[in-house]
Amino acid sequence: MKNNVSLSDSGWNLQSSYTQISDKLFSELKPDAVTNPSTVIVNNELAEKLGLNLKSISEEDLSNLFSGNSLPHGSKPFAQAYAGHQFGQFTILGDGRAHIVGEQVTPDGEIFDIQYKGSGRTPYSRGGDGKAALGPMLREYLISEAMYYLGIPTTRSLAVVETGEKVYREVPLKGSILTRVASSHIRIGTFQFLAAHKDYEGMKSLLDFSIKRHFSNLKFSENLAIEFIKAVMQKQINLIVEWMRVGFIHGVMNTDNSTISGETIDYGPCAFMDHYDANTVFSSIDTQGRYSFANQPSIIQWNLVRLAECLLPLIDKDEKRSIEIAQNLINTFSSLFKDKWLQMMKKKLGIKDQSEDDEELINNLIKWMQQKKPDFTNTFCNLMNYDHADDEEFEDDEFNNWKREWKKRVESKEYLDVMMSCNPTLIPRNYLVEEALSEAETDGKFDKFNELNEIISSPYHLKKVNIKYLETPSKTNIPYKTFCGT
Ligand code: AMP
Ligand code: MG
Repeated sequence: MKNNVSLSDSGWNLQSSYTQISDKLFSELKPDAVTNPSTVIVNNELAEKLGLNLKSISEEDLSNLFSGNSLPHGSKPFAQAYAGHQFGQFTILGDGRAHIVGEQVTPDGEIFDIQYKGSGRTPYSRGGDGKAALGPMLREYLISEAMYYLGIPTTRSLAVVETGEKVYREVPLKGSILTRVASSHIRIGTFQFLAAHKDYEGMKSLLDFSIKRHFSNLKFSENLAIEFIKAVMQKQINLIVEWMRVGFIHGVMNTDNSTISGETIDYGPCAFMDHYDANTVFSSIDTQGRYSFANQPSIIQWNLVRLAECLLPLIDKDEKRSIEIAQNLINTFSSLFKDKWLQMMKKKLGIKDQSEDDEELINNLIKWMQQKKPDFTNTFCNLMNYDHADDEEFEDDEFNNWKREWKKRVESKEYLDVMMSCNPTLIPRNYLVEEALSEAETDGKFDKFNELNEIISSPYHLKKVNIKYLETPSKTNIPYKTFCGT
């Protein structure tokens, strides 16, 4: 029996505009009821931004709310259909274990999808059970919030509950539901789904909807499809450059995990790189290194080609002409990416003005990092003269010679301010995340999780935190392997 939590209590202001685009793109259905839900964490800071007042809701009502036992006022839940290239293979997919309970319109007029993940089977579940385990949901909560505080476009996490039920993977695990908040869940794979059905009317509606939701400045453009591809390309370039700024490796950059909003989505086997290696892959299933650190730009370009292919019929009536236009657009990717990446790397090094030699200076540092494999985060902390970044790799002559060259380049006093604004001192280190999750999963204790969740909220400050959060992890903690969060 599902009761709706009252609007006046909590500030829900839900709509379901997505369901107006095309009947093919969703199935209306409710999350499964669960037996014994209990709240693990609620993000009150995010709730406030959404215009929700959750503090006035009882613990029991909160657990019922975020488990899907009671739906928020105005909710008309649905699961989305989409497709995607998974490791290069095209597949029809959809939300196999998620329900969008509505689009929350905030007091500022912004719109965010509210999605429950792990909330039961849907018509898109294929062989899956529609459920999620506690560890992966806590992991998504932690890493997505860390990304938010690092200033990187991302979906966010509003709550995690335990369902009180077991989910069966290799072993029985605690069942859990994550409430995810996204500026939308439109993926490249959403366009691919309609293209696979040759539904170009639906595609036109999806394009119009996407522009209204994310790129309203483009609405008067002469050719919406062209401007849309350009805009998504720019968003994704920004995103991947941001990932590379902090050493983030997404791990499953399938086209169904690439949003058109440019937000990071679907935190599965993702992780932050400790010791620098451009070929780093954490995911146990990525045996070919398709989604390695350094491959991320070319993979997103590949994904953007898939998006452009879908939109060909909307670019021009003449197919040949459409292909030519799309090809020219995609050809701009490399130089746009490189410019953005260079800007980012210069900021990491505190370089404000232009010089022809900057690229070489940057590449020399990267070559040195690739050779000596120092901690990525702490290399930049060392350049900022932070005491804790005193690993033996930084005593290397080659590094110190490079440092002298670099120092000549950053004579102005403000270089440190620039560096401090974009070089984190704190990232969610893999072994710390594992420790926190394992304590939560096996012992039902959340102290480490809560502490980590607290410290990731100010990644650019040298606060008085336990030194273990800053130091380079011992080499016994690598190589690190992650597994898909299913
Ligand atoms: P992901 O790896 O989370 O991006 O998921 C890829 C696809 O598999 C999506 O369509 C998911 O909805 C689906 N999926 C993942 N886990 C499950 C599950 N336990 N039950 C049903 N579908 C799932
Ligand atoms: Mg996915």
